[in-house]
Amino acid sequence: MIIGHDIAGIREDAEGRRSIDVVNPANGSIVGAVVAGDSEDVDRAVAAAVAAFDAWSTRPMSQRIAHVEALAEGLARHRERLAATLSAEMGSPIAFSRAAQVGVAIADLARLVDAARSHVARESVSNSLVIAEPVGVVAAITPWNFPLHQIMLKVGAAILAGCTVVLKPSEVAPLNAALVGDILREIDLPAGVVNIVHGDGAGVGSALVTHPAVDMVTFTGSRSVGEGVARAAAATIKKVALELGGKSAAIVLEDAPIEESVDSVLASCFANAGQTCAAQTRVLVPASLLDAWQDAAVRATAGWAPGDPADESTATGPVASGLQRDRVRAHIETAIDQGARLLAGGLDIVEPTAGGAYVQPTIFTDVTPEMRIFHEEVFGPVLTITPYATVDEAVDLANDSVYGLSGGVWSSDPRRAFDVALRMRTGTVGINGAGLDVGAPFGGYKQSGIGRECGVHGFEEFLELKSVMGAAALIDDHS
Ligand code: NAD
Repeated sequence: MIIGHDIAGIREDAEGRRSIDVVNPANGSIVGAVVAGDSEDVDRAVAAAVAAFDAWSTRPMSQRIAHVEALAEGLARHRERLAATLSAEMGSPIAFSRAAQVGVAIADLARLVDAARSHVARESVSNSLVIAEPVGVVAAITPWNFPLHQIMLKVGAAILAGCTVVLKPSEVAPLNAALVGDILREIDLPAGVVNIVHGDGAGVGSALVTHPAVDMVTFTGSRSVGEGVARAAAATIKKVALELGGKSAAIVLEDAPIEESVDSVLASCFANAGQTCAAQTRVLVPASLLDAWQDAAVRATAGWAPGDPADESTATGPVASGLQRDRVRAHIETAIDQGARLLAGGLDIVEPTAGGAYVQPTIFTDVTPEMRIFHEEVFGPVLTITPYATVDEAVDLANDSVYGLSGGVWSSDPRRAFDVALRMRTGTVGINGAGLDVGAPFGGYKQSGIGRECGVHGFEEFLELKSVMGAAALIDDHS
């Protein structure tokens, strides 16, 4: 069966239409298909979002919050189905799917609801009454690596702000989005508030980005596609929020605990088979700790051996597709050619399930800034180790990137780690292994993106400010 779009509250019939197969990367089997949408589908979806906007944007916040809370409850109710679907379509190990893919998506909505609840929509500024209003119709375009989390950060924040949405989920992992469509009908979200159009970037994504009735595009994906999205959106001067790639560094200071820092850096780099935009993929280690750190890292890599994603104990599943496996292998090959020294993993084929798109968790050392592996986002389980002599050099190496998404610092003295964190040009930094905080702003410096997601700041991305001049004194009448 081909899954159709969700437009104006209805799951459309897609039989007979061109479709996109969804492939299980653990074995190559086809686990579903979605309609390959086109610009006419986009027109209908945008029209539905436009039609729903007035009523939705003028609802009291308490009602919008109630719908988003019902959505979070829906995700929790369907946690097992969602987790199994995510595992089947993008290879995430089942335990990780349940806890991280679905669990984080639920937490995203909870923190966004907190933000909406405490939001002050009107304030008196100078001689004006300043009113925060929804941006309008939002196009949300999402990738395949944490598909549900990325959908909830965009859709949850947008509809809390009073916007209406057309979502284009990744064509690689669209089945979880179709389940979201089912849940939205289950909770009686008014028709047209969230519309889901399936398809690829050329057929649906670009039609959304250039659509004159779309007011804002929120995009998560690769740097190169993000650049194209920003250029295309410029033609109609849309607001654009971009969450792009990263090449984040972990700085291990001389007084850092070795085992803990190794475990934490490997978890950041290898979880989700390395397909995490904020993964710490470059570790900078003082020369004095290098041998001990490398030995511990090689030992710990054994705990990340690839396995069947359906197995509860698997830590590393396949990457999301055969295409992604080939891209990651090409990065490994180049690193070897350019003189990086392989400590673990590499190009030997492992197939814990026949026909699976697996990559062995891989560690390179002796990696220098001249090598491509030091700069290019791999989006697979590949860690590089670069030694340093002084903390200044470590900070320079960390900042030697076009990206600035995330990072980490390890020290037995948290204040020392904090001081180094302040010198890193990135949107988030974790001290001593602290990971993603969905209550705090998440986003990139430099070419990692524009804008922030999560919590208050993620919610505020979907607001415009209107200054009603001469109305400052009216605040009490309109609060
Ligand atoms: P991608 O850029 O190939 O695709 C992302 C989305 O954009 C998909 O839905 C795709 O269909 C759509 N798209 C493709 N071409 C388009 C076009 N011309 N116009 C509009 N939409 C288009 O990325 P991907 O391969 O799905 O995901 C991996 C990338 O995402 C990595 O680079 C990763 O770093 C990045 N990422 C970033 C974050 C973050 O928050 N910063 C989070 C997750 C992933």
